[in-house]
Formats: sequence, structure tokens, C-alpha cells
Amino acid sequence: MARTAIVTGGSRGIGASICRLLGAAGWNVVVNYAGRADAAQAVAREIEASGGQALVMQADVARKVDVDRLFAACDEAFGGLDALVNNAGVIGRRGRFEDLDDAVMAQVLAINVLGCMLCAHAAIPRLSTRHGGRGGAIVNISSGNALSGGPGESVLYSVSKGAVNSLTIGLSQELAGEGIRVNTVSPGLTDTDMPGADKIASIGPTIPIGRVAHPDEIAEGVIWLLSDKASYVAGANLRIGGGRP
Ligand code: NAP
Repeated sequence: MARTAIVTGGSRGIGASICRLLGAAGWNVVVNYAGRADAAQAVAREIEASGGQALVMQADVARKVDVDRLFAACDEAFGGLDALVNNAGVIGRRGRFEDLDDAVMAQVLAINVLGCMLCAHAAIPRLSTRHGGRGGAIVNISSGNALSGGPGESVLYSVSKGAVNSLTIGLSQELAGEGIRVNTVSPGLTDTDMPGADKIASIGPTIPIGRVAHPDEIAEGVIWLLSDKASYVAGANLRIGGGRP
């Protein structure tokens, strides 16, 4: 029987790559998006063209009612859940911390932190053997910024990713005995809409490997962590940073 994954922010960038690779590996994929229905539907068509099954679902991960609707739609379409990828994220406004206003602070924390927590909260009763589930895996997408801190540019984003790391550290130990492996992937700079073309061009050559990542190179790590090949991996933080710490 095909396994089922929910990928938040599956319409573009790293999330879209994760959805495509899962589809090609035979998973049923719930492609979540916030506003770009066109992009999500294009990803779903690619999954279906490769022989997989896809469900496209709009939901703002920062809103509990939306998250409940997202998971209920997955239950109805596929009759169960095996994996969650907490990938949806935003960078907020770049700049010095003192120039940020409280609205942007609340927005970044709501999407990047509360969003992961609400989705994990919805996934656990569906996955946990303690609740009659068949076990599964959760991958939280963090960033190397959680450790660098992003001075002068993205302290808020870095704080949010530090919280994502802590979520994995805690939940991995809380849930490993219930059949749920929780892990983090920490991408380096990746060629998506998030960093933008200027950053990709200027920073790429300064990375030890000499370039930014292609989204598929991040997605491959996620697919491995979700697979049975990673059956003893829990609480890991897989850095995919081209040699950058
Ligand atoms: P991206 O290209 O900007 O795509 C962001 C995705 O998140 C889109 O699918 C977007 O949906 C979705 N999204 C945004 N807000 C949402 C919300 N409130 N609810 C549901 N979905 C929402 O970003 P990316 O570069 O692929 O980043 C993916 C993850 O990797 C993020 O967690 C990011 O922090 C992390 N990361 C990225 C990099 C990098 O260099 N790109 C490096 C380290 C870590 P719509 O298409 O509908 O807008």
C-alpha cells in the first residue's frame, strides 16, 4: 500500500522538490500551499505524471482551523498518514533587528514556529502507536541560520529556526518509543524564490562547494529521513550546506 505524506509549502522551492521526489518514490502526497494554487497544481500534475497520487490543499499553517482542515482532507483522500514534512516558511523582512516591527515578528514566528507545532500536533495522534497509529516520520525544515544567528540581516528568522531545532530535539525523544522518528534538515543557501537572485549570485561562490544548492539536493535528504533506510535515525539534524557549518 502506498504511504502518505503531507508536505507544507509544497507548491514552490524545496517543498515542491520534496513533493516531486516523494511522488516518484510512490508516495501519496498532500501538496499544501498558502496562496499559489497554480504552482501547487503544477506540482500535483508532475506527481501524477510520474505515477503517484496528489491532493492539493490550501491552508495557512499558522491557523489551527486551516491545519485541522488540511489533515482532515488527507484522512478523507488517503485514509491515513505516514509522514509530515514541516517545510513552509518565510524569511520576513531582511535588515537589522531593531528595525523590525512587531507585526513582522509575529508573522514569522506564527508561520515558522507555530505552523510546525500545529502540524506536528495534528500529525502525532494519527501516527503514534500509542493512539493506534502505525508509526511514521516527521521532518522539520530548519536552516543553518539557527546556529549562525543571522546578524544584521535575519536574526528573527534565525530565532524561528532555533525553535524548530528545539522542537525536533524534544519531540524526537518524546515520540521515538511510539514509532515516530522526528528529524531536522538544515539546508544551506538554496536556489528558490526565498533568497532571491541577487543573494544566490553573490553568495554562491563563497560557499566551500562553490555554489548554492539545487532544491532537489535538499529534498534527497528529506526523502532518506522519511524512508525505512533511516529506520534508526531520530533526533538528527542533517546539515546540507555545501561545506558551510
Ligand atoms: P519558497 O520558495 O519561498 O517557498 C515557500 C513555500 O512555503 C511556498 O510553497 C509557500 O506557498 C509556502 N508557504 C508560505 N507561507 C505559508 C503558510 N502560511 N502556510 C502554508 N504554506 C506557506 O521557500 P524555500 O526556499 O523553498 O524554503 C522552504 C523551507 O526551507 C523554509 O522553511 C525555509 O526557511 C527553509 N530554508 C530555505 C533556504 C533557502 O536558501 N531557500 C535555506 C535554509 C532553509 P505559496 O507558494 O502558496 O506562497
